[in-house]
Amino acid sequence: MNKMHMLFYSTNHQSSEVNLRDALFTGQAPDKGLYMPKNFPLIEKVEWDAVREKSYPEIANWILSKYCEGTIPAEKLELLCQDAYNYRVPLEHVTDKKYILRLDQGPTASFKDFAARMMGRWFGALLSGDEKETVILTATSGDTGSAIAHAFYGIPNIQVMVLFPPDEVSNRQRKQMTTLGGNITIVGIDGKFDDCQALVKQAFADPQLKDIQLTSANSINIGRLLPQAVYYIYAFLKISKNLEPIVISVPSGNFGNMMGCLLAWKMGLPIKRLVISTNANDEVPVYLRTGSYEKIVPSKNCISNAMNVGHPSNFTRVIDLFGGHMDETGKIHKEPDLEAMHQLIWSVSIGDQETRETIQKAWEKHQLLLEPHGAVGWAGLGRYLENHDEDIDIPMVSVETAHPAKFPEEIETLLGIVPEVPASLKMVEEKNEHYLEYPNDYETFKTLLVKSYRS
Ligand SMILES: *Cc1c(COP(=O)(O)O)cnc(C)c1O
Repeated sequence: MNKMHMLFYSTNHQSSEVNLRDALFTGQAPDKGLYMPKNFPLIEKVEWDAVREKSYPEIANWILSKYCEGTIPAEKLELLCQDAYNYRVPLEHVTDKKYILRLDQGPTASFKDFAARMMGRWFGALLSGDEKETVILTATSGDTGSAIAHAFYGIPNIQVMVLFPPDEVSNRQRKQMTTLGGNITIVGIDGKFDDCQALVKQAFADPQLKDIQLTSANSINIGRLLPQAVYYIYAFLKISKNLEPIVISVPSGNFGNMMGCLLAWKMGLPIKRLVISTNANDEVPVYLRTGSYEKIVPSKNCISNAMNVGHPSNFTRVIDLFGGHMDETGKIHKEPDLEAMHQLIWSVSIGDQETRETIQKAWEKHQLLLEPHGAVGWAGLGRYLENHDEDIDIPMVSVETAHPAKFPEEIETLLGIVPEVPASLKMVEEKNEHYLEYPNDYETFKTLLVKSYRS
């Protein structure tokens, strides 16, 4: 059979097109752009009916096989999907035609498990038999680090190093990373998240480290986005009758999650409106309203802390999808088709006070338990409906991106209840922690990299 490779181009258009394997292992394109699929594999009308009753792993396999053809053998991908998605994906009916999709049942209880687990398995499949070790280097403010560490734990030929700011992550978040051991090295840096991020960036750009095969696993990597197209398609299949378009609401920070939804849309997922809610870091809602884009520096601290992003890396991809060009610094060289963007995307900023009120109201009115990120998404959906009451009969889904037990203090203060801790989070409580402590200094960090990974 003729094997077809899916190609990926860089949003800066200076680097050559690459196949999936190279896009995964390079992360960011050499011209500092982000990789995008050159052609979107379309979902044919007849396919929808055939998949309606399928399980989550089966739907993942159906969608991802369209990208993996020629890179990962079909029978292998099927096994990887079964293995990665061995947890529930609950879709909770709330009221009218409104639903919550809970993406919090994976091992680290955030939606980041969905993409990290698939990406880890892709890396494992592509590297088996290779002599050379690949080092995943990443900085985290909490959820990314633990999802990546769990997803790549024990995969042959892979080493993982995660840098984190000890003062900025919760005990539970830290323990999820520091209790693994094996091929996972965790380094506490005496500084802020931005310092960790800067050290990682400097290492990627350091010519003296070229002999160590460093790869990024944050959401600039297209491998972190493709698997996130799947759950939107899954939810659509459950709530839309006769393929009627639905409204989807995504609480957003670095815009990786919502990009998964846009990929699904490009493949043919019928979407009436995509509601994008941010916290007080409102650079994107402001851009959509005014047409002028300004980063927020430094980003504002909100209770939905995983969304404290003043310049979302993935917004470059959104601009690209609508025909514009934004470079890696956030400068727009060519305006996108704003009119087309408005037809699909409706964006709103939700502050901390409204987030807290939303958690309370959802509980009082519907016995719906939300944490701060999911509450931003739910509040955004409410705001959308206030402005579009003609859409009341359209099926709608808002995604809950973390488990409420990750925010016990906030929930207890607001609702007077303590959310039940899932088994995966409980397990780490008793395990031994191990992590290195390093100063915020590049040369010292570089010595560690060389000592750990130079063969
Ligand atoms: C990372 C994260 C987000 C933001 O997702 P983006 O893809 O960065 O927009 C939202 N909620 C939780 C719980 C997260 O961990």
